[in-house]
Amino acid sequence: MPTRGVRGELSEWGARAVAHGSRLPASTAGLLIGVTLALSWVSTSAFGGTASVPPHAFYVPIMIAGLRFGAAGALGASLASTLLAGPMSYAEVASRTPQPLSDWAVRGVFFVLVGQALTAMVGLRTAGLHAELEDLRATRRLWAALDGDRFSLRYQPIVSLRRGGRIVGAEALVRLEEPDGVTVGPDQFVPEAERTGMIRAIGAWVLLEACRQCARWRDEGLLEEGFRLHVNVSPLELDSATFVEQVQVTLRASDLDPGMLCIEITEHAIAQDSERFLDTLHQLHRLGVSLALDDYGTGHAGLGQLQRLPVDVVKIDQSFVTGLDERRDRAVITQHVTSLARSLGLVTIAEGVERAQEAAAVERLGCDLVQGYHFGRPMGADQFTLALAAEGAGARDGATPGAPATAPGAPG
Ligand code: C2E
Ligand code: MG
Ligand code: MG
Repeated sequence: MPTRGVRGELSEWGARAVAHGSRLPASTAGLLIGVTLALSWVSTSAFGGTASVPPHAFYVPIMIAGLRFGAAGALGASLASTLLAGPMSYAEVASRTPQPLSDWAVRGVFFVLVGQALTAMVGLRTAGLHAELEDLRATRRLWAALDGDRFSLRYQPIVSLRRGGRIVGAEALVRLEEPDGVTVGPDQFVPEAERTGMIRAIGAWVLLEACRQCARWRDEGLLEEGFRLHVNVSPLELDSATFVEQVQVTLRASDLDPGMLCIEITEHAIAQDSERFLDTLHQLHRLGVSLALDDYGTGHAGLGQLQRLPVDVVKIDQSFVTGLDERRDRAVITQHVTSLARSLGLVTIAEGVERAQEAAAVERLGCDLVQGYHFGRPMGADQFTLALAAEGAGARDGATPGAPATAPGAPG
């Protein structure tokens, strides 16, 4: 992670960029255009008119108008320049014959064309600058959140129906508390974190925090044999040369066995298929970390990919699970995936199970594990600890297992 000094510099740099990005006020721009048009007219006439001096000066107000008011502004200034530049030709021609209309027209066409071309070019550049500015703002915002400890994790239970509904895993899901105190989900900041590369720093924090928490649960004797902590990792992280090392260091620092960690990659991530990406997956696998293919069915991962990649778990996307008990097409797909996964020796997890009927259907179709609001919403570490403890107490008291880990309406 960069030092505070680097972050401070970055913030200042961002602030300066934002200041430069502000536009010229319309009144100032209008005044500038008027003054430069008048100066252009005066200076051109002083030298005998447009036939002896090409009216280049008129391009200045056209450019200012284009910069401030866009294509329409440039067009207005071009027409005004044409009108102003035309009459001067009377005074300049030695023979005192008026300049032909065609000269006026040619000059006007040039003003318009050059004005529009310049505006388009500047517009493209400005759009690029604005995008850079947005990225700077996002980077500052995300650094500030990391600095201010405003990221947090929720844990969602992963449950085995075959083992009577026991919690056999947890998926760590990141949240961000905005400066106004509102907590937002990853859809509000992960895309920009990926675009700016900040996901590497955030992902490193997520991995360390989740591993430490899992080690705490283990030390308190709350975890089932074979419990797995699932952590989502973005393609950018996996494509980094140091990711495997980062995982090793994190596991060592949190004293967690690699076998307890499962890294989730989305189906879209494997589309990149770079050599380093594949190498990273193989190295992680050799370490003993398991890999899950998240949101299976939404991307491009064909069945062949499952065989080719060192994947241990397939998470069937919620879009196939919702209404599974009523939709035959979804049931057919789910059954197909589970039987293929089983033949390849992979574990299947059905995501987004919200109703008891869906849970029964995925179990019937051969899914190994389930995850969804029906069994527990994503919850804070303390609440998850209580759920694990309650389960342990239930097992000791001989209570019927299989009940949802939290009330389905608990906050996520
Ligand atoms: P995901 O990995 O597929 O996570 C499951 C998402 O579905 C979570 O949304 C979870 O809250 C939600 N969910 C779980 N059960 C149900 C259910 O029964 N019904 C419905 N409607 N939704 C359910 P969340 O937490 O908003 O995360 C969204 C996505 O953001 C995740 O999808 C994952 O791709 C990404 N994400 C989350 N945390 C991280 C992270 O630490 N790093 C990275 N790179 N991505 C993350
Ligand atoms: Mg996931
Ligand atoms: Mg998913």
